Amino acid sequence: MTCFPWPKKSINKLEGLLRAFFWQGKSKTSGGHCLVAWDRVIQPRCAGGLGVRDLSAHKQAMMCKFVAKVLQFSDIPCYQWLASQYCRNNLPSGNSSRDTAFWRGLKTYIPLVLFSSSCSLGSGALVSFWQDQWLEVGRLMFVLPVLYSFAKDKLCSIQSQITQDGWDIQLHPNLSHTATQELQVLLDLIANVTPTDANVDHRVSSLFRKELATGYFYKMLTFRGMRCAFEQWIWEKIIPNKHKVFLWLAFYGRLNTRDIMFKKGWSALVSNADCDICPTVESIDHVVLWCRSAEHLWGKLQLNSLACASPDLLSFFERVSQQPILKRKWNVALAACVVTLWHARNDRVFNSASWSDPYTRFYAADLLRLWLHRAKRQQDKDDLKTWTLCLSN
Ligand SMILES: [Zn+2]
Repeated sequence: MTCFPWPKKSINKLEGLLRAFFWQGKSKTSGGHCLVAWDRVIQPRCAGGLGVRDLSAHKQAMMCKFVAKVLQFSDIPCYQWLASQYCRNNLPSGNSSRDTAFWRGLKTYIPLVLFSSSCSLGSGALVSFWQDQWLEVGRLMFVLPVLYSFAKDKLCSIQSQITQDGWDIQLHPNLSHTATQELQVLLDLIANVTPTDANVDHRVSSLFRKELATGYFYKMLTFRGMRCAFEQWIWEKIIPNKHKVFLWLAFYGRLNTRDIMFKKGWSALVSNADCDICPTVESIDHVVLWCRSAEHLWGKLQLNSLACASPDLLSFFERVSQQPILKRKWNVALAACVVTLWHARNDRVFNSASWSDPYTRFYAADLLRLWLHRAKRQQDKDDLKTWTLCLSN
């Protein structure tokens, strides 16, 4: 898996097993039981997923790390051999009749490694002159784009561009006026740079200047550029894992409330989409914000008007977070309330049990007491005790 391409079919099969185990604890599952698309589940938590390992990205990350080892000095024979066999004067691109299937699989990751790393220069044999970042100003292909278009070999190594007499940049003839100007800039930039065998070519990550590891490439490959709005509120150590996943599903509105079940056509379970105690559709937002059973609980925390005015659970949390005089760990208290309201709803639907308003409050307070031992800092414990008192008095 580290250096051989892993067949897509095999990844799909394994992901199928993971998916079935995650949603149903079985080896097979159907689409109706998967509450959230797997593509979202495997996104990092900061991007709104559950952080389950994306096998395809993980495979690519491991191969990138292997290629990175080939494209810098190494005292390990297999990396040395691959570098001397396939990367003599330039970093390979395109297809070559000399390529083995093994190398063809690795070669596709070379651009990714080049563009996510920067180099400290040794002999320059394994560093791309134009595409690698080995000068402070940046990658020459972007700094001097016109001159780059005249380069004879776009992936030539630094070592191939220097002779005993100095720099000898291999360019096509008849340079344009702009290219001539850029050539002068280039010669000024590299006038004091001399590749030497005394040092070794070494690559580090472009972003953090650290060793290139699988985790770094995995982060790059799974980065979505968007931060999840509710990540900070649910991935809290004090909240137990099963409740974190419940809240995650609640924020996406994917729990099996009557509206969802009705949409799925589960007519054997539900005949309509309405709440059993209110004359309106039962969605998760209804259950935890607007249902008659939620009114007293939010009233006790003086959040009832916010709950009624919020269009969904996410907006409710956002509005609560903007309250200026709110006590710390409010997200944990709200999480306990949301879990409580869901338990009350399930008890009502499946066991025909009706929870009184004080019982609902005490249930939420008991949940907070149960979670208390998960708080490590005394300050957090004190905050949770305050919320518990607020709910139980
Ligand atoms: Zn209701």
